[in-house]
Amino acid sequence: MKKLVAILFAFIISQFQAQQGPYYQQHANYKMDIDVNAEKFTYEGKQTLDYTNNSPDELNVVYFHLYWNAFRPNSMMDQRVAAQGKNGDSRLQKDGVSRLASIPKDQEGAQNIHWIKQNGKTLKFEVQETVMKVYLAEPIKPNSSTIFTLEWDAVIPQQIRRSGRNNKEGVDMTMTQWYPKIAEYDYDGWATFDYIGREFHAPFADFEVNIKINKDYVIGAGGILENPAEVKGYDANAKIKADKNKATWKWTAKNILDFAWAADKDYIVKSFDVPQGPKVFLVYQNNEKTKVWEEALPYLTRYYQLMNAHFGKYVYPTYAFIQGGDGGMEYGMCTMILGEAKNIEGLMGLMAHEGAHSWYQQMLATNEPMRPWMDEGFTSYAEGFVMNQLFPPAQPLPNPFLNSINAYRNFIKKGIEEPAVWLGDHHDNGTSYTYASYVKGELYLVQLGYIMGEQNLAETLKQYYNQWVLKHPSDRDFLHIAQQVSGMDLKWFQHYWINTTKTIDYGIKDVKYDAKSTTITLVNNGQVPMPIDFSVVTKDNKLVNYQIPMNMTRTWKEKDVYGEFKTIPYWSWTQKEYTLTVPYTKSQLSALVIDLSQRIADVNLEDNVVEVK
Ligand SMILES: [Zn+2]
Repeated sequence: MKKLVAILFAFIISQFQAQQGPYYQQHANYKMDIDVNAEKFTYEGKQTLDYTNNSPDELNVVYFHLYWNAFRPNSMMDQRVAAQGKNGDSRLQKDGVSRLASIPKDQEGAQNIHWIKQNGKTLKFEVQETVMKVYLAEPIKPNSSTIFTLEWDAVIPQQIRRSGRNNKEGVDMTMTQWYPKIAEYDYDGWATFDYIGREFHAPFADFEVNIKINKDYVIGAGGILENPAEVKGYDANAKIKADKNKATWKWTAKNILDFAWAADKDYIVKSFDVPQGPKVFLVYQNNEKTKVWEEALPYLTRYYQLMNAHFGKYVYPTYAFIQGGDGGMEYGMCTMILGEAKNIEGLMGLMAHEGAHSWYQQMLATNEPMRPWMDEGFTSYAEGFVMNQLFPPAQPLPNPFLNSINAYRNFIKKGIEEPAVWLGDHHDNGTSYTYASYVKGELYLVQLGYIMGEQNLAETLKQYYNQWVLKHPSDRDFLHIAQQVSGMDLKWFQHYWINTTKTIDYGIKDVKYDAKSTTITLVNNGQVPMPIDFSVVTKDNKLVNYQIPMNMTRTWKEKDVYGEFKTIPYWSWTQKEYTLTVPYTKSQLSALVIDLSQRIADVNLEDNVVEVK
């Protein structure tokens, strides 16, 4: 007995001490033949999946996602929307009532698996709504491959969110997360997140997809069209066989997370080459509401040039902006976005966001359900950064992210903030999810830029790309690079900002004027410590900048957006107040300012400036 206890104890200890081994990632290679019945909104599918296990673990089961099974009454997605009522995603409910509850029987989404085989042997499987567990006939050993074949049929659901038929803009078929898709397996284990409406995670994969559909349809997809001369819309000299009702579209794609497409009879296709960048496709219904799409070309060219220069080069040969008719959502080499746009700035805002997901989701493929702030947040940062240059505001802002910082400040007052570290699907409140992932993730980078200087942030983003492009980085990988580039300890910041809902609040508490100088007392009224940039503005419009490092970073920034600044003794995070004396008299001073750049997400700005009169 004693020996058994000792063995068990040793086992438990070893589990706690387990360290992440060398990095690996799984790979999938899909070949699919799809036959669409456009009248019935159904299709038949055949899949051959060559799956490679690069992990050090032997796999005895695999999991597939069957996302469309979510689109029916009383599904988990329906239950979740019903439980959240008006607090949930506004697109999934109407006046707090789930839109899924009233999907008619014949428009319920379905992915019905007929059979699945491994190397020719029929496998046992269990469908748990949107997740299929498959028991393998033979284990997949480390560093080996296996071949799955399967057949299924599917019903394209009523358009509720992202995928579906006949959406409100009249797009016939938005085909996203539309095929049985193998789940990702990595150091966190199988990513078997039930689909209840939010994010995705998948292994990088190659695709060969043949889609047979009525020949009057035009398809937009994230991939390379291999036979433009045999289908409608892409080649002016295309010869579509007159004797057949259907045309077969041949698409390929390499090293993307998923393959998405959309089909409509009224789509037009425009394309252009970005110098050194991708060939960009615009696929949309040409009408009064989509008029501004015609103006997008020069903006998109500049967009890719800015993105490539600042965030790393887009690696795929093409990218398609497809009118999908429901907000915007990113997929491999394409996005589905709303067609209707009031003006070019509105359209570009959406294109800039979804396009930036090629970096923060597709090429730097973080686990979105686990860390939505890295995907939506970094994307929102890139969007803000680029939009500020594409459409510079008439009055230059102190920084390009001011609107997001103000939005966060207002949101905090509601008292419903939830930590960004939460799993994306498990937020209690839709708005709280939005702020935790989009806004706090964006401000994570804005705060880092402030703490370590913008040059260091830009360098961190470049190295993050260089080291992790076409891989699955985690927040630790990003933090590791940020610390190496800046020489700073930044763990404290990541902890406060991502794991907690604590807020920043610094202020100028007191100012004493003497005959030769002025003494300022600063106060930390918040819960998140920060280094402080403090500026003195003189009557003759001179700017004198001071940097007060915070001791936990162990060093200070060398450069930032201000030009010159003087580094003065540090302010320890345990100390409530900090006093400094500046060699200016009251008559020489115009203003005293905490964080002239306004990058700190300080929740109370009123005490950050003292005007000297
Ligand atoms: Zn997004």
